[in-house]
Amino acid sequence: MVRASYQTKQKKAILDFLQQNKGAHITIQQISAHLQQENTAVSMPTIYRYMDALVREGAVKKYVLDGNAAACFQYEDETDMPDSSFHFRCGQCGKLLHFQSRELQQLDSQLKKSASVKIDLEQTVFYGLCGACEHSK
Ligand SMILES: [Zn+2]
Ligand SMILES: [Zn+2]
Repeated sequence: MVRASYQTKQKKAILDFLQQNKGAHITIQQISAHLQQENTAVSMPTIYRYMDALVREGAVKKYVLDGNAAACFQYEDETDMPDSSFHFRCGQCGKLLHFQSRELQQLDSQLKKSASVKIDLEQTVFYGLCGACEHSK
């Protein structure tokens, strides 16, 4: 089963990359660039297939943002990262960042009770100024 073990190696390279960048906004393009650097070049459709499989297996979380941004992926670590990430986009430099917030998580469950609405956190983006842009003002 040479083919299967080769696939496993590629999949592991993707998982390792996501694990090393835990909490960061990682797109298919970045995964592809990383694999090329590691001399494990994988075609885009194959990466998409791997990512679908990893999401189904629960190893990776997929965020699909508004039409302007590509989907991104995050390594799921049940032990030290139990919460979903929130997205933040800097209006000045356009950077998309991940951040964790227990308060926002609570707000979500509160709103469910008080306003009977459910926020789709996997599609929600907060807008503002990132630290670097804020300091350079
Ligand atoms: Zn993201
Ligand atoms: Zn910025």
